[in-house]
Amino acid sequence: MSEIAENWQALRLRIARAEAMADRAPGSVRLLAVSKTKPAAAVRAAYAAGQRAFGENYVQEGLGKIAELADLAGPELEWHFIGPLQSNKTRDVAEHFHWVHSVEREKIARRLAEQRPSALPPLQLCLQVNIDDEDSKAGCSLAELPALVTTVLALPRLRLRGLMCIPRPGNGAAFTALAKTRQDLLASIPGLSPETFDTLSMGMSDDLEVAVAAGSTMVRIGTALFGARDYPAD
Ligand SMILES: *Cc1c(COP(=O)(O)O)cnc(C)c1O
Repeated sequence: MSEIAENWQALRLRIARAEAMADRAPGSVRLLAVSKTKPAAAVRAAYAAGQRAFGENYVQEGLGKIAELADLAGPELEWHFIGPLQSNKTRDVAEHFHWVHSVEREKIARRLAEQRPSALPPLQLCLQVNIDDEDSKAGCSLAELPALVTTVLALPRLRLRGLMCIPRPGNGAAFTALAKTRQDLLASIPGLSPETFDTLSMGMSDDLEVAVAAGSTMVRIGTALFGARDYPAD
């Protein structure tokens, strides 16, 4: 078995244990494999082990791998864009990815809606929330979030699936805060339904258990699956 396949099986066990510890249903947490900086061969190894959803942070790098791995493309394979998204890159994301987790402002959402090809299914979208770090520029503020949700709901060719956060390391309370934010939005925004607004994208290699305990439905895992990255990617 490849090292990546071994890591994948260990991760699946880790997630299953975290679900059980948190009294969550088995299978309620999805694993997003974060392949940034890793070669297409690493993605292929994870795919061979059974992994189907992959996350990329850089548009050019992601497009390269999507092209290299075109032979894997099938109904199950999903590419998720999880990195900072500038407006000059929205078309590439709208045309080539299945999900985006890092939408934080209206202009980006509008461009994605305009640029999503109508021949493709709607682009699945999470809004990135700046849940715990006012100094960081990444993510929409809690104050701006309701208006952004309302705007995105009205846009064509997008499906608003939930919220994403990248808290400071060790700040588990941020995960609970994001879960509460989702509940508050469901209670206050007409047209938002728990069946479709069903995603909390939170938790990484070092804190997936804390995130699952707080209600994560998708953990984004790089290092624990693919090993340490050779160069900094954040
Ligand atoms: C790199 C990255 C991850 C994965 O982090 P690991 O600690 O390697 O598991 C998850 N989410 C985002 C947004 C990232 O940039």
